[in-house]
Amino acid sequence: MDHTFPDDLKGKCCVITGGAGVIGCALVEALARAGVKTGIIDLNGELAICKAKEIADSTGGKVIGIAANVLEKASLFEAKKTINDALGPVDLLINAAGGNSPKATTGAEFIDGADIDHLERTFFGLDLEGFRTVFDLNFMGTLLTTMVFARDMVERNGGAILNISSMNSFRPLTRIPAYSAAKASINNFTAWLAVHLARRSVRVNAIAPGFFLTEQNRFLLYEKESGSLSPRGRKIINATPMQRFGTPDELQDATLFLLSNRSKFITGTVLPIDGGFSAYSGV
Ligand code: NAD
Repeated sequence: MDHTFPDDLKGKCCVITGGAGVIGCALVEALARAGVKTGIIDLNGELAICKAKEIADSTGGKVIGIAANVLEKASLFEAKKTINDALGPVDLLINAAGGNSPKATTGAEFIDGADIDHLERTFFGLDLEGFRTVFDLNFMGTLLTTMVFARDMVERNGGAILNISSMNSFRPLTRIPAYSAAKASINNFTAWLAVHLARRSVRVNAIAPGFFLTEQNRFLLYEKESGSLSPRGRKIINATPMQRFGTPDELQDATLFLLSNRSKFITGTVLPIDGGFSAYSGV
């Protein structure tokens, strides 16, 4: 794959949250190949440092890893200082920290006659703490991080922000209401912030990935014991016209495009990358 097309990215400084995760690492690799200096921020600092070294070694790029929590502003300010000292002012931001949790997932898809005696498996049994954790990680983690890192862009009159949304943001999937609501909020926030920052030449867009197999969703898509597709995994494949899960490298070029000047008149959009999932009515 040719990662050199957006030459204007060369030498820029990008921060990516959740950058030690499966999708994050694929994006960091693409950034490093495009000559972007990248700061990986992740709750798992050890993994962030290890992935940064691995990607720097394999691409020859400048990548550093830092432990920080996207839900703690003080920890983000500390990370910003380290990044500014090592890589310079921040030009680009990718908000990729996010995910779902079994604690914010209902046991049942629908409430039917059989569930009426087991409402704890439904919406009524949702653990509020679990719900709040997932909502905050996906939405507040994007909001707070942007508050901390977009300042450099506004002060220097230029930059680009990419939020990571999801298919859930357009039509919620069953069982995961906190994740769906948070990703829908990200779309709304993307449009709002794009307008707010437009006069300082800072663009804000999002990508909405379809289904990519990672640790956070494996428990929903595959049976633990047999390793075969779960009924939910099978439904997703059937609802994806391309009939497969995506691979993280399939998010790389869209990311580079939306961060680079090649998309300089595009702001406030959410781009689905989903093998046709969002276009398909099922009939
Ligand atoms: P992942 O679990 O592999 O990566 C998420 C990373 O975020 C992890 O490294 C984790 O340590 C980090 N993280 C978690 N909490 C944090 C916090 N409080 N502060 C800082 N870092 C934190 O997941 P992924 O699949 O690579 O997901 C990346 C993004 O893509 C997420 O926003 C996810 O919602 C989104 N997404 C994923 C899919 C998919 O199919 N995998 C689909 C649509 C959207």
